[in-house]
Amino acid sequence: MTLRVRPGETVRFPAQCVACGRPARERLSLQKRRGQVTRRVDAPLCTDCARQLARRSGQEERLLRLSWPAASLTAVALGLLAALALSGVGWWLRLPVAVGLGLGGGAFIRWALARRAAAAELPERRAVRQAAQIVDFTWRDMTLAFTNHELADRVRELNPGLVVDEPAVKSTPPAETTN
Ligand SMILES: [Zn+2]
Repeated sequence: MTLRVRPGETVRFPAQCVACGRPARERLSLQKRRGQVTRRVDAPLCTDCARQLARRSGQEERLLRLSWPAASLTAVALGLLAALALSGVGWWLRLPVAVGLGLGGGAFIRWALARRAAAAELPERRAVRQAAQIVDFTWRDMTLAFTNHELADRVRELNPGLVVDEPAVKSTPPAETTN
């Protein structure tokens, strides 16, 4: 659903967990970044789902722990190699090239390992994270996606002035028995 929320305005949520619908005490911070601009919204989350969100798989943990020393090592090795390769060149060129290559290589290794770690995310954690997301935003609109359709309806009710339009979602109403 797309809400017309200008930066600084808030979206109202029911006091229910966006992931499971139970009473919420924690917050799920949704954010979406594009270029220099980041939009943030806090959605309610229950204690159990917040705990799921904080959990990491062993593989994820290992990759993240490994990523910093691996990145530092790469940075130093690349920097030294570049400095050696340019041994005939003046330091004013050698130094920036060596430092630049080192930092670039280190950043790449860190990024690659963080990506691998993200792929090893626990399915329960991913489910909580994806329960509510900012899909898109412009300077005045923000499109939110909820996996829970009932909750999406509640949000729509609570923010009547903000709802602009909604994508054609096949909503599955809870089997209505009208007889
Ligand atoms: Zn929950």
